[in-house]
Amino acid sequence: MQTQDYQALDRQHHLHPFTDFKSLGEEGTRVITHADGVYIYDSQGNQILDGMAGLWCVNLGYGRQELVDAATEQMQQLPYYNNFFKTTHPPAVKLAAKLSELAPEHINHVFFTGSGSESNDTVLRMVRRYWALKGKPGKQWIISRENGYHGSTVAGMSLGGMAPMHDQGGPCVPGIAHTCQPYWFGEGRDMSQEAFGKQCAQALEDQILALGEDNVAAFIAEPVQGAGGAIIPPDSYWPAVQEVLAKYDILLIADEVICGFGRLGEWFGSNHYGLKPDLMPIAKGLSSGYLPIGAVLVGDRVADTLIEDGGEFFHGFTYSGHPVCAAVALKNLELLESERVVEKVRDDLGPYLAKRWQALAEHPLVGEARSLGLIGALELVANKRTGERFDKALSAGNVCRDFCFENGLVMRSVGDTMVISPPLIITHSEIDELVSKARLALDKTAEALAVTHPMESA
Ligand SMILES: *Cc1c(COP(=O)(O)O)cnc(C)c1O
Repeated sequence: MQTQDYQALDRQHHLHPFTDFKSLGEEGTRVITHADGVYIYDSQGNQILDGMAGLWCVNLGYGRQELVDAATEQMQQLPYYNNFFKTTHPPAVKLAAKLSELAPEHINHVFFTGSGSESNDTVLRMVRRYWALKGKPGKQWIISRENGYHGSTVAGMSLGGMAPMHDQGGPCVPGIAHTCQPYWFGEGRDMSQEAFGKQCAQALEDQILALGEDNVAAFIAEPVQGAGGAIIPPDSYWPAVQEVLAKYDILLIADEVICGFGRLGEWFGSNHYGLKPDLMPIAKGLSSGYLPIGAVLVGDRVADTLIEDGGEFFHGFTYSGHPVCAAVALKNLELLESERVVEKVRDDLGPYLAKRWQALAEHPLVGEARSLGLIGALELVANKRTGERFDKALSAGNVCRDFCFENGLVMRSVGDTMVISPPLIITHSEIDELVSKARLALDKTAEALAVTHPMESA
């Protein structure tokens, strides 16, 4: 089949996720056929540097034979069996033990799911069950954040704070409230980062008091917001938030679906920020995206209660702990460990990217360049001096994204925020390539949108 054949069939039969079906049908799709290392290749032979690691998940990069072998061997041995009804199998057992070893000290149990969304459905059920068992059934409310992303199932989108998602297919799951996000560049530039971080924590406390402290079960947040635009909170944010949660005995759910498995240069984002979450939903990098698998890592406080006082927990999935997915995840973790990938992100690749990325802050189109570990963002602005944003109708972010793709780089746009999250095995020279391709796309975007250089406008 040729590219046009794929595109024609795709248009006729395939409804894509998070897509305007009609305009995609008109524009046509790019057909990705194979991949290796940090590069993907399309059906026309173009090589493209995958600055997003797929969808934030291909942490070990493409083409790892060890993961293929792990899947093959497990498929031959036992392609499927469930963990219901008093059965288990070696891959699920080993993976649960390994995750408990890697997770923070107070986390020693794992509930398997098939994705990040399913993990957050599980979290919602566990949290409410926990407080019911504790004799506090009034603790029902879960506070989340505006512009947070927790998946696309009904519970996932309800927990998330993406207004366009809430507007479709509602009503949302009741008992979920949203507070502000620690997005300094977008919402707090009239004060210091420090003050803004504290103000967000104060808003959380106000929200808790408004709902009634005896009614709030948990707070859910990504350590660094991914899909919302690689939003790195001010340093003052997490310590102040943790203080508030402790004050009112509210569980912390750290959604580690993106931050987990080395993205921030630690095994989990919670390690980087010194968080002590009660629950950690994970997915994506758990298997480097080679097979779909997720889980909830359950802290002792919640696990002990569910185990001791809970009776049967009426919840689980056909593919919870799927043996082939679990075997691949286990091998993925072994490779991350033996190749010291997480430490390299922390000590070498993260700092190297930060240095190169920061140089883009001087570009006339860039209002802020930020990164942490191997996640980064650029804020596009119409006027560098005032920080004024582009008219939304110009879709500056999408214009820049399309120039990137044309020029052999996947960089994602979230509104006018450009985001990267490359595979964790990227090299220095590949980082150089990523940055120079990003710079070229910025130049072309500035030209297309007729942005004058600040020197000229001064
Ligand atoms: C991607 C993502 C999810 C949802 O995971 P799926 O596997 O797509 O269901 C949940 N939380 C966060 C933080 C994510 O980035």
